[in-house]
Amino acid sequence: MALLKNIPVLIFLVLSPVLYGQQEDQSEALAEIIEKYGQAEVTFAYPGYSGLTGIGRLISISSVVDDRVFAVLSSKDVDTFLSLGIKYKLIIPDETKSVESALSVQEAMNWDLYPTYPQYDTIMHKLAGDYPELCMIDTIGYSLEGRLILALKISDNVGEDEDEPEVFYTSTMHGDELQGYVLMLRFAEHLLENYQGGGQEEKLVDSLEIWINPLANPDGTYNGGDTITNPTRFNSAGTDLNRDFPDPMDPSIVPDHENMEMIGFMRERNFVLSANFHGGYEVVNFPWDRWLGKIPADSVWFYNISRKYADTVHNHSVETYMDSYNDGVVRGAVWYVIYGGRQDFVTYALQGREVTIELDITKETPAARLPLLWNYNYRSFLGYLENAFYGIHGKVIDDDTGEPVRAKVFIGGHDKDSSQVYSDTLSGSFIRMLDPGTWDLSFTAEGYYPVTVSGITLESAQQRFITVRLSDSATQVPRLPEEVLKIYPIPAGDHIFIDPGTITGQTVNIAIFDHMGNKETELHNIASGSDDIFIPVSHLAPGYYIIRLTDMQGRQHHASFVKN
Ligand SMILES: [Zn+2]
Repeated sequence: MALLKNIPVLIFLVLSPVLYGQQEDQSEALAEIIEKYGQAEVTFAYPGYSGLTGIGRLISISSVVDDRVFAVLSSKDVDTFLSLGIKYKLIIPDETKSVESALSVQEAMNWDLYPTYPQYDTIMHKLAGDYPELCMIDTIGYSLEGRLILALKISDNVGEDEDEPEVFYTSTMHGDELQGYVLMLRFAEHLLENYQGGGQEEKLVDSLEIWINPLANPDGTYNGGDTITNPTRFNSAGTDLNRDFPDPMDPSIVPDHENMEMIGFMRERNFVLSANFHGGYEVVNFPWDRWLGKIPADSVWFYNISRKYADTVHNHSVETYMDSYNDGVVRGAVWYVIYGGRQDFVTYALQGREVTIELDITKETPAARLPLLWNYNYRSFLGYLENAFYGIHGKVIDDDTGEPVRAKVFIGGHDKDSSQVYSDTLSGSFIRMLDPGTWDLSFTAEGYYPVTVSGITLESAQQRFITVRLSDSATQVPRLPEEVLKIYPIPAGDHIFIDPGTITGQTVNIAIFDHMGNKETELHNIASGSDDIFIPVSHLAPGYYIIRLTDMQGRQHHASFVKN
């Protein structure tokens, strides 16, 4: 028995003779801290990129700063961590980790103290109650310990499910990363209080459906009771909720309770844009967190929206703030790899677009610093949501019935790794946020002929709206694969030319639709000789048009143009 027991120790001593004594001493203290606080923070030397990626699969890395790694351990992780034999330093917490709490709801709503749990609940209901036309409360679900996971929906005609882009902010899935929780409550109030100013807030609330979940992990934050004392990163089962979403490559992984509720909530909606807020660092982190080698299809777009967030913050911060990595912006895996993060799940599995925003170098921001963080960030909170206005928006409808069609919207040569989007089943609406450029969008749906609309030009901070009509493949004549038309000049003046390409020598029908899908022009039996086809368009109002050419085989060819 003694011999058996000694063998592993012996091996360990041989592998790392210097460390053993140290770790044994610390492991007891580690266990005590976890018992008392629900978690323990450790730091160790950066073990190299691949070394850290391996460790990150096993335990919860919370930050990498210069050559140090910071990890938080729950009771579930301790044995695994110790078995790695890493030389670590235990970070001894204050005797009681607490932040200043408000004594009343009124005090909490000055936003320079932390709310108690009952105050939080009251504030959420108060915002909905004070602005019943604009704000309603929704329940995402319940935590393991039975606390409510709440969201506010803020929009004009809030009681209706309008055909508007849905956007989502969620904070504090790490229960001890506190600042975003208060800032999101304050942001909800800010949108409501400033709605009637004719400004940015009004535009956002009128044109979007904004969902705000200030506290994703109430059991972690209120681990110590109704005031914030010894909050934990983990949920009450010791799970790091930001390492617990289904893996893009292994969707069979079953998330813990709070995340199941969150995934159900998100699947019921169609969030096109979202962000999740954290503390412990200052950076805007965009996908992928999981893959270093895979660059997202929309990497440049992600970088640009993150850049704008950080730049806006820099314009209003009076200290060195949010300047790590590329001046406050990083592609997640470049910092360090995480598995099971919500940003990647939302972007990969739900066809959303999500970033992770780290709001303060300190996780438990002192209450008195909250107004400063608000001032640094609130313009970026507003500005980030505006991204949902831009890009190519539109509707996909059945050419015969006008009914909405759920279609896959795909950009050949650009989309990869699940970056396509889908039009909504009920409205046919879709949003594809993109960088400035000229884009070809392909639309496919079961039972319909595919359509490609090409040459859609997009400028910075611009929205293009198109209506795409799909023909039912059961009732319409069969067609060969979609061909792309070439049109010039764009923008058009009083005429356009169509290059007939492979349809030379045929008789064709031509229709021009405006951006809402209304047929503006119809030309029958046009002979397409070897010359380009001349079409007068001087009668069309300035705007965006889709042209459809149908050849003798019933094949349709689409392209778009702008008329000045
Ligand atoms: Zn976090």
